[in-house]
Amino acid sequence: MDHKLSALVQIDLDGAYVRLAVTGCLTEANQHVLYPLVRRARMLIPPVTVSVDLSAAGHVEAAAVDLLRWAIDHDETADGASPVELLVPNGLPTHPHAAVPAVPRLESLGQA
Ligand SMILES: [Zn+2]
Repeated sequence: MDHKLSALVQIDLDGAYVRLAVTGCLTEANQHVLYPLVRRARMLIPPVTVSVDLSAAGHVEAAAVDLLRWAIDHDETADGASPVELLVPNGLPTHPHAAVPAVPRLESLGQA
């Protein structure tokens, strides 16, 4: 399955916020590429609030959110860096093209 991750960085020129709008798939396997971007964003123009917005992502794995949150909370180099808020959609979306498990066709049941 092809999980593609994209992030659009929005910087408010009044220095109020930096927003990372994530689209595509955030999985346990690819979440590690996101934190370096978050780290740069929170060092950019402190103090700002960095928002990582996952609400438009098509696919979010719970483990990926946990790992990302852990990386944010345990960044030893982030002394004095801006706070990060994670916007996580209610009910994590699954991959839009995930194969649906085959269901036996009722009409074929019970036939000799
Ligand atoms: Zn996916």
